[in-house]
Amino acid sequence: PMDSEASPGERALEMLKTVYGYDQFRGRQAEVIDSLLEGKSTLAVMPTGMGKSVCFQIPALLFGGLTLVISPLVALMEDQVMALKLLGIAADSINSSRSREENVSVWRRVAAGEVSLLYIAPERLMTERMLAALAKLPIRLIAIDEAHCISRWGPSFRPDYEGLTRLTDFFPGAPIAALTATADEATREDIAEKLFPRTLDGQRDGKVIVSGFDRPNIRLSVQLRKDWKKQLLEFVEARAEQSGIVYCLSRRKTEEAAEFLKEHGIKAFAYHAGMDSSIRAAHQALFMRESGTVMVATIAFGMGIDKPDVRYVFHTNLPSNMEAYSQEIGRAGRDGEPSEAMMLYGLDDIRMRRSFIDNEGGDEDHLAREHKRLDALIAYCEAPTCRRQSLLSYFGETIEPCNNCDVCLDPPELKEGTAEALSLIDVAEQTGEIFGAVQLIDILRGLTHEKIKKYNHHTLPCHGSGKGTSKEDWRAILRQMVAANMLRLDIQGHGALKLTAKSEALKKGDIRFSYRTDVMAPSELSRPKRT
Ligand code: ADP
Ligand code: ZN
Repeated sequence: PMDSEASPGERALEMLKTVYGYDQFRGRQAEVIDSLLEGKSTLAVMPTGMGKSVCFQIPALLFGGLTLVISPLVALMEDQVMALKLLGIAADSINSSRSREENVSVWRRVAAGEVSLLYIAPERLMTERMLAALAKLPIRLIAIDEAHCISRWGPSFRPDYEGLTRLTDFFPGAPIAALTATADEATREDIAEKLFPRTLDGQRDGKVIVSGFDRPNIRLSVQLRKDWKKQLLEFVEARAEQSGIVYCLSRRKTEEAAEFLKEHGIKAFAYHAGMDSSIRAAHQALFMRESGTVMVATIAFGMGIDKPDVRYVFHTNLPSNMEAYSQEIGRAGRDGEPSEAMMLYGLDDIRMRRSFIDNEGGDEDHLAREHKRLDALIAYCEAPTCRRQSLLSYFGETIEPCNNCDVCLDPPELKEGTAEALSLIDVAEQTGEIFGAVQLIDILRGLTHEKIKKYNHHTLPCHGSGKGTSKEDWRAILRQMVAANMLRLDIQGHGALKLTAKSEALKKGDIRFSYRTDVMAPSELSRPKRT
């Protein structure tokens, strides 16, 4: 029973209990709700699975009237509408997967005041006709899901979202709830700049609430990829009764990996966008229903999947950046029970990700930002100290060493490597910063093959100066230097290694370099392309 004397906060909690059946708010949900209930536009940045939806759904119900929910994907929309209907909430959606007749009948109910939450895609909303029709209705709140799509700074800009900037002009009385799991500082500011209304003195008016990205129940581990099938099988077999998600880069590889696991008696299913939709749905249903199933998927799988007892997420390759990675591993352990995130990576992943970024194009600033995002992820992979610290520092959080990552639990040995690092900087500089890893290391190791002679590299003073260090060690040192931004891998220059500000600092003796010896894998097969 709702007490009319209760404060808005109390009424919100009451609603969480009676409508959703949860006892308490999680993370900073309550703050987001309070802020919206005060009528402030609010950007909520929360990791996937924390429960962004209730942050706008509860205010929507408390406000009464109509709440517009803007969401980029029809599938997500339909899932949420279905979930709300099951809770007895009058939600509906107007979208392209429905027939004209269905959309018209939804609209009639909306116009009659029978719908509390209307889900709609941005391009449908931002038509003059729709806006004019909505202007006649009591719109109390506008929720924008996946709000980072509005920012060109973010990893998944959608031109459709840009029009939403005009929303505050059309509905000045309705606060905006912007929600995203993408927390990068620049993106956050950009979202607020685009969506929040201006006060009379021209300031942007709204609140940004960043919720804890720490998911302490997920144990973080990273390994160099040696034999990915063997590594995957060992991991999955050791967790036989558990459900997990295995992410692969390509459709072909998901099928190959699922086949391979099946051959070893594991209930594994492939899932990717190229599959027949009925097979895909069947695989998803099995995964949701049966324990001990492994979903081998491209990243197409996971958005909107709400299975609380996913015990692990296994990446066979480096994900695209830190935001993507934290979202993807966030699908594990939503029930709060101990879970794991394991990632395999290799130098070829780094090369490939760099070329993905460059091929996507965009202006220089955009490219530089994307490469920086990737750098952060690579540094995470090679982190000589607590991985969770490295992950969370990217999202602006500082924590103590977590004691629940491979680095904390089994600290790697660090070796002083300033002299080696200086040799690599030296050889890169002496050869004009246009050569890649293979050539630089071959020079240091004193090789005299054709390509060395062609460029007269055997006459350099540093030729042969690094004979005492193995090729593998050189490769690992180089990789960790790149991770630490002490050298930069230039993809447009086909993987040429260039000096950075940090190289200069190292040369001056302002900083030193030490490296992990355990990430050196003699059997690592990847070879950088020769330049
Ligand atoms: P997100 O959009 O942040 O990924 P969702 O809104 O889909 O997350 O919520 C994820 C899951 O958490 C849902 O099953 C939701 O019902 C549940 N949830 C939300 N809030 C709470 C809460 N306060 N306590 C427990 N579970 C919650
Ligand atoms: Zn740790």
